Amino acid sequence: MREKSDSTNVRRHNLSLVLRALRDGGPTTRAKLADETGLTKAAVSSLVAELVDRGLAREGRLEQTGYTGRPGLIHEVDGEVCGIGVEISVDYVSAVAVALTGEVRANRRLALDVKGSAPDVALDAVAELVRQVLRTRGCRPVGITVAVPGVVDHAAGRVAFASNLGWRDVAVVDGLARRLRRTRLPIEVDNDVKLAAVAEWVSGVAAGTADLAYLFGEAGVGAGFISGGRVVRGTRGFSGEIGHLPLDPRQRECPCGRRGCWETMVGLGTLLHLAADPDDPVHDPARDIDERLTDLRRRAERGDRRTLDALNTIAADLGLGASVLINMVNPEVLVLGGYFAALGDFLLDGVRAQVAARVLAPDAGGCRIVLSGLGFAAAGHGGAQAALERIVTDPTIAG
Ligand SMILES: [Zn+2]
Repeated sequence: MREKSDSTNVRRHNLSLVLRALRDGGPTTRAKLADETGLTKAAVSSLVAELVDRGLAREGRLEQTGYTGRPGLIHEVDGEVCGIGVEISVDYVSAVAVALTGEVRANRRLALDVKGSAPDVALDAVAELVRQVLRTRGCRPVGITVAVPGVVDHAAGRVAFASNLGWRDVAVVDGLARRLRRTRLPIEVDNDVKLAAVAEWVSGVAAGTADLAYLFGEAGVGAGFISGGRVVRGTRGFSGEIGHLPLDPRQRECPCGRRGCWETMVGLGTLLHLAADPDDPVHDPARDIDERLTDLRRRAERGDRRTLDALNTIAADLGLGASVLINMVNPEVLVLGGYFAALGDFLLDGVRAQVAARVLAPDAGGCRIVLSGLGFAAAGHGGAQAALERIVTDPTIAG
């Protein structure tokens, strides 16, 4: 009995190894897969056959070698296998389908005043968006992961507390599973910034970096960490709440109910407050955030003093918190996401100056600070990748 379960585990591990190599390395032959994984060619053949049976890989064309010799059959991941990522944000909900190949198959977004509505209204809207995405041709979904800006009990499938949404103890997984009963897809919920860090790690500017820190700025501010190739969760999954470090000497009130949180220094609301009067259209929550940030960017580009001063203040305060993070975890790369990336070229110099002054280790401990290229969709994208990751880690749950 023991022997059987051991050999089952070894096979599961090897299936994962081959599927991961196919996903990360792209189409390839058995011989190259054997080289890359350290498995025998015979073992790779059997594993690829099982992945094909389970609908996760396919056999394609013959390799054109250009020299005489037996051409190898090319194998590749099945491009129809998709993870679904959902994002519930302060003023919109979205759903995206990402294929194992990394291609985005469908992307839907709906402006919605989530904070001003009951959680059931947001979950109804999400369920409808997911149904639309599931109707995409050539998309075979394997799971759904929902990204929420708040403290999430990942194991229980509940949002414990999301101050920017006004949510407390919301059963997201049960609520969605009820609405999407017919799909029978596995559903998970996770913190949005952790999922955005997953997206950066799988497909972003710092893809494959073993020790990555990610800082996301929107209404709220949070961090996600990948350490040794794994998401850092902490004992109950509540790590990363860097936005609530008490760093603000002015002790302004935070939506979480405390005073002096770092979020009150560098959250988007603070930038907007510094940069524009209350009746300025950049404050209008009905407008898309990308449009509002484009307005600010144009003002900065033409040298508007108030906008530039606001950005310089944010950059210095952003560098302050970034220094705490770098001193704590010594990441190889710090990726700035959300609005920190959208206006990043006006922030980076100020951030780097603070980090150089405040991080104890020489050369900021070797940490590079870079801007995310994934935009505000990073969390949804990461949700889709997390749903795919469950299959890549254990291909036997498919088929
Ligand atoms: Zn707070």
